[in-house]
Amino acid sequence: MPIRVHDTLSRTLKPLSPRAPGTPYRMYCCGPTVYAPAHIGNLRTFLIQDILRRALQADGTEVLHVRNITDVDDKTIQRSLSAGASLHAFTTRWTQKFHADCATLNLLPPHIEPSAVAHIPLQIAMIQKLVANGHAYTTPDGSVYFKISTCPHYGQLSHLDPATLRTQATNSAGATNQADEYEREHITDFALWKARKPADGPNHWPSPWGQGRPGWHIECSAMSTHYLGNTFDLHGGGEDLCFPHHENEIAQAECATGQHGFAAHWFHSMHLLVDGKKMSKSTGNYHTLDDLLARGATPMAVRYALIAGHYRSQLNFTFNNLAAATAALVKIEKATEKLLAQNSLTRADFSPMTTPEKTTAWGAFQPAWDTLRDDLNIPGALGKIFTILPLVTNPGRTPAQARADLSGLANILYVLGINLFTTNATPDTTIPDSIARLGERRWHAKQSRDFATADILRNELAQLGWQSIDHKDGYTLTPVGT
Ligand code: AMP
Ligand code: ZN
Repeated sequence: MPIRVHDTLSRTLKPLSPRAPGTPYRMYCCGPTVYAPAHIGNLRTFLIQDILRRALQADGTEVLHVRNITDVDDKTIQRSLSAGASLHAFTTRWTQKFHADCATLNLLPPHIEPSAVAHIPLQIAMIQKLVANGHAYTTPDGSVYFKISTCPHYGQLSHLDPATLRTQATNSAGATNQADEYEREHITDFALWKARKPADGPNHWPSPWGQGRPGWHIECSAMSTHYLGNTFDLHGGGEDLCFPHHENEIAQAECATGQHGFAAHWFHSMHLLVDGKKMSKSTGNYHTLDDLLARGATPMAVRYALIAGHYRSQLNFTFNNLAAATAALVKIEKATEKLLAQNSLTRADFSPMTTPEKTTAWGAFQPAWDTLRDDLNIPGALGKIFTILPLVTNPGRTPAQARADLSGLANILYVLGINLFTTNATPDTTIPDSIARLGERRWHAKQSRDFATADILRNELAQLGWQSIDHKDGYTLTPVGT
């Protein structure tokens, strides 16, 4: 049974399997608009997509993950001009910052990350097709618009009422719509190509219709079909993108290629709220990754806090949740230490136990994996990890069981992208039982002047990452390097 997640188009849970057997699972996710640091809501959406990809891979499905960079639109142009920087220098800076944030949060890089600016000829070619087959028209200023009335399926993804589709060419004031975004109640034909305006500064490109720049929606239709084919497996983004962006992507792509079923599955994740409200700079409830790190959070605690809600529910971020995430990680780390000690292993042995691609090695953590596979239930899987941990850290399990459980834990944490022991912020000073026993035996060997045995035991301790510091009347065990 393949992994199932919700599909916005059919409004059902649908299995995720590649359309064409033997080919990779082709997923396209709308990427960041690079004019400022990503906020934690953006990052949550990318983290959910990252876990979807990891889960598919663990399930044995090869994935081809494309995520674009929006580096030409109203915001990037306006902000670069106000900063006195070229569009290229400005968006490169914010793309690099985005990559750094993703690396800090342990996101897998997409296999292909196309930039909109680098694909302008591809976008022009798609617009030309739309003009040629009657789905788009030019206006006297040299802009090109998509004619919604020519697209019978327009509105299917966002379940629009066809009655609202009556006034389409212009808005209620009789003007063409120059904005890339609009409300469901104010649908108008939208721009595919925007004629050059003085406000765009030096940011204009040649086209068959004169100098200008692409509208926002066309980049994703052009680049997704270019890299993944006219029809592919899954398209993802935050809930705000469903209308109009994804609706427009379907219209553009299907009318240009003449093929239905642009994306077989539409995967939307609900928004992150902060203190119960939409994030906004003016109310001060707007956070970036750097803001949270500056307050002392670890990257893994931020990752944990941002993934801890189901993708189909809005997640309310608070500093209490962040503290709870930190505490949850410490709990998992402590239990893992116990499990490692039962196997006479150290922290360093843990992550190499992971099988990053296809695996069936879940040990006692099988229920956590089963929960995750069913509608990507991340909070459910985390809950299962916490119920299973006390069972597997009970003494009395055979070495083979303990080893299998450790691998299972390493695997499920890999799918969630959680790296343990990445910080010294919460050092665990608990001495595992096995280490305490070794320390005791070494001390007695030394007291009975069996120095050869004492040396062997000292080496064994060192290999497990521990050292014994001897005093006149006893000894202290400490992790090596502290
Ligand atoms: P943008 O950089 O605005 O193009 O957005 C990048 C991604 O973040 C898109 O998939 C958006 O849908 C998503 N997004 C925007 N705001 C939020 C939010 N508050 N919570 C979750 N995802 C969001
Ligand atoms: Zn897009």
